[in-house]
Amino acid sequence: QLRRLLVRHHLLSSCRSQRASDVAHHKYDVIVVGGGHAGTEAAAAATRIGAETLLITQKIETIGALSCNPSLGGVGKGQLVKEVDALDGLMGRAGDYAGVHFSILNRSKGPAVWGPRAQLDRGRYREFVQSQLLNMPRLTVMEGSVDDLIVSAADPEKPGKHRVTGVRMADGAGEILASSVVITTGTFLSGSLFMGRTTSPGGRMGEPPSCAGLSHSLREVLGLKLGRLRTGTPPRLIKDTVDFSLAELHLPDLRPTPFSFINTHTHCKPEDQLPCHLTYTTPGVEKVVRESLHVNSHIQQDTKGPRYCPSIESRVVRFPGRQHQVWLEPEGLTSDLVYPQGLSMTMPPELQLRLLREIPALHRVEIRTPGYGVQYDFVCPMQLFPWLQVKCVQGLFLAGQINGTTGYEEAAAQGLWAGVNAGRTALSLPPLSLSRTESYIGVMIDDLVSRGVTEPYRMFTSRAEFRTSLRPDNADLRLTLRGFEELGCVSSQRYSEALRVRHGLSEALVALQSVTLSSPRWREKLRDAGISEVKSTLISGEEMLQHKEVSFEMLASIFPEIFAPYLEFSQRIKIEAVYRPHCENQKREMERIQEEESLTLPPDIDYLSLPVSLSDEVREVLDRARPDTLGAATRLPGVTPAAIVHLLNYVSKTE
Ligand code: FAD
Repeated sequence: QLRRLLVRHHLLSSCRSQRASDVAHHKYDVIVVGGGHAGTEAAAAATRIGAETLLITQKIETIGALSCNPSLGGVGKGQLVKEVDALDGLMGRAGDYAGVHFSILNRSKGPAVWGPRAQLDRGRYREFVQSQLLNMPRLTVMEGSVDDLIVSAADPEKPGKHRVTGVRMADGAGEILASSVVITTGTFLSGSLFMGRTTSPGGRMGEPPSCAGLSHSLREVLGLKLGRLRTGTPPRLIKDTVDFSLAELHLPDLRPTPFSFINTHTHCKPEDQLPCHLTYTTPGVEKVVRESLHVNSHIQQDTKGPRYCPSIESRVVRFPGRQHQVWLEPEGLTSDLVYPQGLSMTMPPELQLRLLREIPALHRVEIRTPGYGVQYDFVCPMQLFPWLQVKCVQGLFLAGQINGTTGYEEAAAQGLWAGVNAGRTALSLPPLSLSRTESYIGVMIDDLVSRGVTEPYRMFTSRAEFRTSLRPDNADLRLTLRGFEELGCVSSQRYSEALRVRHGLSEALVALQSVTLSSPRWREKLRDAGISEVKSTLISGEEMLQHKEVSFEMLASIFPEIFAPYLEFSQRIKIEAVYRPHCENQKREMERIQEEESLTLPPDIDYLSLPVSLSDEVREVLDRARPDTLGAATRLPGVTPAAIVHLLNYVSKTE
């Protein structure tokens, strides 16, 4: 442990001593600005594909910092973590190292919408991410602040088209050149912090905002459209002053499930995991919120905040008279703090304390640091290509909160994709996109670049049309092979493991399809194992497995000679068998859409009242654009593949 700390200390000191003048003579392939969740994944991904990369961030010790909640994953977000991991990103492994309470959310629903989630130890998460980045070959990490971009005209004949050639450091510390630049400044771009009536410049408590030059350059020099969003964080509570006996105890899963496909177990032992507690707001909380609105500048602003993670003030104003959940979450194995999820607030600190003490479990609570809000600039993401490059600036990529998203997972997933493409551009390789049919990352990026954002964007499973195929369990099969063979961002060790898994799964499925469970001897064995009556006379092992009560382990105990070799994949085989018919249906639908590209859409079609399941947003887009063919409809921003299937079915029927 001591040796590890000394090595880390040495690495940190040598990174801090990197100066702009030391690296200025050197032209990098990629410069990443910002060491948050987007920046760390971008730097690591660019490095993995072979680009010489420089990560510049304001403070090295905040690399891997969790600005708000000490947790990772959940429904939709967990899928993103699995996909980042499948492409060899850091986030999943960091979660496995730092997790102190693992659970799968939505377990009562189908595995396609399960949400792997963990409470994290903040210190451990930072430690893991820093140790990975500071030891990566081809990656230099430098502490400093980027003040501006160096840009030139991409083509003197075409005004308005630029090319980025490097960055200019703050305080006249010099210029550094690169072929590609990825900006991941999170909540720091023209950031302002809010608490009560007080407003001060900042990107996060105790940290200055990005230098004004960067915002100015994006807006005025490059002509990009910027917007403003806000978010907030709760006060951190002193654990010893919380009365947990007055809250409901919530235990983690007995067997923690790792996020990473290459981990068989988590760092924290199952028995060492920490519990969470659940409590609720009271009418007293609502009273304090109402009485404090006039001294709460953040809540008075028109700027949009995160709808799905609102402050307690927004909840009270929007849903008066309701009781709201408050989760009391651990901040780490040895931390003396508690994070009250659901109580993000920006009123003056003395009123924060009064509000908290209105909750029975917090009647004598003390605050270590008060909650606060932040407002920041974001770049409207419709100005980006699907490979996250700014359309009007060659070599300039954006990822994370700067694109209008919220959340660590959303940031990391974009960072990874921007890093891959920034690296590819610098190495003169063509950029690549991910489709909505192959990943949640593809869904998110497509939503951002084709629809834009009006409020902080976060991932939900409902955003994906193909969620039965985009499951957390199969992210490796969807992405790891492509990640190695086409992108070059996946290690050969991970690739070999994914090939082994794919081989094992397909062999097991062939075995299941080839076995017919109809002979009286086998029926008897099935009955003995407690499996209810087989309905069909001829039923394959795969169809058998589609029965809710049948597990692969059961089949393997009856037919060990056939199935025992595949027992390590039991859960995955069961999920594959259940979902295969749905996925094949979806695939056929997609192929049908491709075949029917030239199908003419009736010119008088009334999209607004069409008797099919289309969202109001899709109806309006179709009504406005009135596409001639199905192919033209598929290319309209905001028209989802699911909507196209409904449209195709309707037009084919009425033809
Ligand atoms: P960040 O994690 O913000 O990282 C940006 C990095 O860039 C920082 O390290 C910064 O030092 C560096 N940087 C900035 N400018 C420069 C520069 N010019 N030069 C060099 N380095 C620079 N998310 C939720 O999902 N739910 C919430 O409730 C929530 N609440 C939040 C509350 C607060 C107060 C804050 C600050 C964040 C909150 N978040 C929340 C957001 C979450 O932290 C982000 O979504 C996530 O961290 C974004 O990752 P990122 O990499 O884009 O940016």
